[in-house]
Amino acid sequence: MRPDGRITDVPGIGKKSAADLGTIGIHTLRDMVLFPPRAYDDRREERNLSDTTPDNPSIACRITVISHSQFPSKRSGMTLKATCADDDGRRIELLCFNRPFMKDMLKLGSSWYITASAVERNRNGIYSTASFELKRTREEAGIGRILPVYPLTGSITEKMMRNASSYAIDALSPFEDELPYDIYRRYSLMHHDDAYRCIHYPSDDTDIKEARRTLAFTELMLMELSILRGREHGRKAPGKISRLEEKLISSLPFQLTADQIEAASEIRADLDSTHPMNRLLQGDVGSGKTLVAWLAALHEIAKGNQVAFMAPTELLARQHAEGAAELLSSAGIRIAFLTGSVKGQSRRLLLESLKEGTTDLVVGTHALFSEDVSFRHLKLVIIDEQHRFGVQQREALKNKGIDASILSMTATPIPRTLALTLFADLDVSTLHTMPSGRIPVKTYLVSDSNRDNMYQSIAVEFQRGHQAYFVYPRIDDEGESDIRDVTHMHEELKSKYPGVPSALIHSKLPEEEKIRILHDFRARKIMYLVATSVVEVGIDIPDATCMVIEHADIFGLAALHQLRGRVGRSSLPSYCFLVFGKNLSMEAKARLAVMKETNDGFRIAEKDLEIRGPGEMAGDRQSGFLRLRFASLTSDLDLIEDARKEAERIAEEDPGLLRIENAPLRIALSKQG
Ligand code: ADP
Ligand code: MG
Repeated sequence: MRPDGRITDVPGIGKKSAADLGTIGIHTLRDMVLFPPRAYDDRREERNLSDTTPDNPSIACRITVISHSQFPSKRSGMTLKATCADDDGRRIELLCFNRPFMKDMLKLGSSWYITASAVERNRNGIYSTASFELKRTREEAGIGRILPVYPLTGSITEKMMRNASSYAIDALSPFEDELPYDIYRRYSLMHHDDAYRCIHYPSDDTDIKEARRTLAFTELMLMELSILRGREHGRKAPGKISRLEEKLISSLPFQLTADQIEAASEIRADLDSTHPMNRLLQGDVGSGKTLVAWLAALHEIAKGNQVAFMAPTELLARQHAEGAAELLSSAGIRIAFLTGSVKGQSRRLLLESLKEGTTDLVVGTHALFSEDVSFRHLKLVIIDEQHRFGVQQREALKNKGIDASILSMTATPIPRTLALTLFADLDVSTLHTMPSGRIPVKTYLVSDSNRDNMYQSIAVEFQRGHQAYFVYPRIDDEGESDIRDVTHMHEELKSKYPGVPSALIHSKLPEEEKIRILHDFRARKIMYLVATSVVEVGIDIPDATCMVIEHADIFGLAALHQLRGRVGRSSLPSYCFLVFGKNLSMEAKARLAVMKETNDGFRIAEKDLEIRGPGEMAGDRQSGFLRLRFASLTSDLDLIEDARKEAERIAEEDPGLLRIENAPLRIALSKQG
């Protein structure tokens, strides 16, 4: 490829247009070549006026001007109407608003090649259009070709984009190969010089498909390689376990699982290396991530450093602070709790102790990183339920000048195929197995009209001293009478279970009230909670064995799985009842079937991916971490596998990419910067 140039090199692209193009990531000619069309305008066939259909009202044909008329338009100015005929004699009126000069151009009797994406037809069989392009020659009008259709921005027109892409291709070509020769052959890929031309200006559908496949494969392969190469540098010596950690482990009433031990040791190695850690701890709901987090915290505290533990809700932060106090304060760890609701004198004292370093571990919400908070030597930030915060949180920490290690925890598992890909810059530890003695939650699908059995089984659980959650999607009846709202259902349940203590909990309650209720639930003073999805994340009450989810059909799979994860957190058998109404959509049926079929969060996430596609699931992770241009995370799973396989082979055989056949890869990677 010849040297890159600025996008302003393209004739007709000035400062203003360049600024607009900048907003979609096009700064240079190379950016333009790498910018894929969103669709194609197939002008291979000439389309006369009689060829239009409601599905495809476009035309691309020759017309001759037969008459003119002008009339004042609604706004100021005159509208020119030029009546033309195509070669079959069918008529079309071209409407030129405020462009009287068009009259001189559209001389009577002159012929033009017109392209328009949509023409309208009136009762008299006359067509009209206001948006059209006229060219002197067939060639110029692109007739006989397939033209790219790009996403537009600001003042940029399709015409400017096409100009820019063909200019950029001419200026930079020939394009060199970016993959080893052998890979082109084995995967029947296009060579890159063809691929870049064909993705913009294909001559048929096969060109489009094959060019896209080649560019997607290349993109995935370069990404996988850069991940693998990043890993190479990161081989670390195992960290040494501290006395504090040993003490915590020996005080536990249970054994750590093998995965917990492994994850803790990976984290230790990271924390003892010279680079700040950036690790994701993923594990299904109930797999015991919190304990791994405390071990990580102790490892830093043993070195005299501070640790911050952040949870997405005040309720969860409180639960964790209490858990920490129970497990860690006997070892002399100084723990503090900080949320937005900590105010006045106690806040002032707390902030002082963080600044002076007399607090070792602070647990809280995002308020931990408000403006007025500063630390003496914060070395580790633990983010629980990371998916709740989004990726910006990490950026936000960086922007605040906090360059601590980060341990993110999530139970929203990323399907195996995507884990590496989505978290390109993260190391990942996974808790695959549950603590021993857990019995998988049994899930029942209950139709709305068939709920009596369910109520009875739960009554039996109450008699055994076990607890339950009833979850509803709404707080109060906002005129949507088919939604069983919490307030109303609480009354109904009270009459079903007379004498069984219960409480209503939802996000509109004052924070202290929620905390009190959860306390009483944990202390078994309350036997069931009637709740909105505030109980979704993190809440850990081992004696709760029943989870009823009303209107389960309107919850997403991730939420259902999280909610179900509130039970089955001990060695007691647990039950999840998914209550659904009438008229289920196909997707809702599919979701419920998945929930019934499996408890495995990974499988559920994979199914979720199938049902919904990953864009949504990955949320800002996708747009934040990756800018995939050509590859699709939904439809290219096979390509992802192949690209990973090849990248792994190459990274293994030739980690420095020094072999002659791998030179194209080395060059392509260095261009990515
Ligand atoms: P999650 O991974 O969903 O955050 P938690 O960390 O809340 O899960 O752990 C769920 C429950 O399992 C807690 O009550 C915790 O004390 C318990 N637990 C954690 N590790 C083990 C283990 N190795 N054996 C038995 N129970 C464990
Ligand atoms: Mg948790």
